[in-house]
Amino acid sequence: MIRIGLDIGGTGIQIGAVDENNKIIAQDSIPTRTDISFEEQVDRMVECIRRILNPSVHPELTLEHVVSIGAGIPGIADDNGTVIDCTNLGWKYTPLRQEFQKRIDKPFFVDNDANVAALAESVAGKSAGTSSSVFITLGTGIGAGIILNGKIWKGFHGVGGEFGHTILEVDGVPCSCGNRGCVEQYCSATAIIRMAREAVAVHPDSLILEMAQGDPARINAKIVIDAAREADPIAEKVFRRYITYLSLSVANLVNFMDPEIILLGGGVSKAGSILSDAVNLEYPKYVLFNTLPLPKVEIAALSSEAGIIGAAMLS
Ligand SMILES: [Zn+2]
Repeated sequence: MIRIGLDIGGTGIQIGAVDENNKIIAQDSIPTRTDISFEEQVDRMVECIRRILNPSVHPELTLEHVVSIGAGIPGIADDNGTVIDCTNLGWKYTPLRQEFQKRIDKPFFVDNDANVAALAESVAGKSAGTSSSVFITLGTGIGAGIILNGKIWKGFHGVGGEFGHTILEVDGVPCSCGNRGCVEQYCSATAIIRMAREAVAVHPDSLILEMAQGDPARINAKIVIDAAREADPIAEKVFRRYITYLSLSVANLVNFMDPEIILLGGGVSKAGSILSDAVNLEYPKYVLFNTLPLPKVEIAALSSEAGIIGAAMLS
């Protein structure tokens, strides 16, 4: 038995066949295109699945062995497999399940990509064996997936888990959602870059600017964290400020729901233990019951595979 997982992103669609041990046994990818119709996009995804299903590579790679197909999207979907909103792809109330099942008649599921990654980690990654966890992706934006009793929790109306748009600062930095001061504006990779650009405008002698070849437009989260590792005082200051925002956000989460474990994924999490150690050290300061055992903040284990594996696990 195999399950097919589709990790639908803004630039590419990763598609894989996952076996009963949650291992990817075949995979391929296609670029995400917004210049073709939705039906054509589904055609291309189905073609890619048919390419992967090659029994000469693995005997179970046949359509008969496929029990279900799942897709993770950078947006939200309802229980009928309709994509309510997926801005990157221009999908609004798009019947993804219905269109897919016209081409391949198998059970089809769709969910938000952060939920999908959280599910993958809870079965085959760092939060395996726990019953409650929160997965936070620190990328261009902030995504979050909540697992309660082994299942994705997305709220009664399906709009929960939008941790990135909880508000940290009144009258803060304007957010893409229309509000101001959202967590996303202080804890994403984009936020580190903004803080670093502001800092180097005042301190052009910073190692950050040197590592960015003198061009503030080239600054990325990795450069800032690498410069902080090199003990550049300006980079350290930016990193400390970022850690304070992230620690406050994590503490809010712990005060509110006290999960068993919190995982960090996405681009910024590639920094590794320098990030998780700093948050684990600082966030308890802001937690009410901080003399009791608290959840550990850890770096997610599955990286880019989580999207395919988690989508394949949807049911
Ligand atoms: Zn927002």
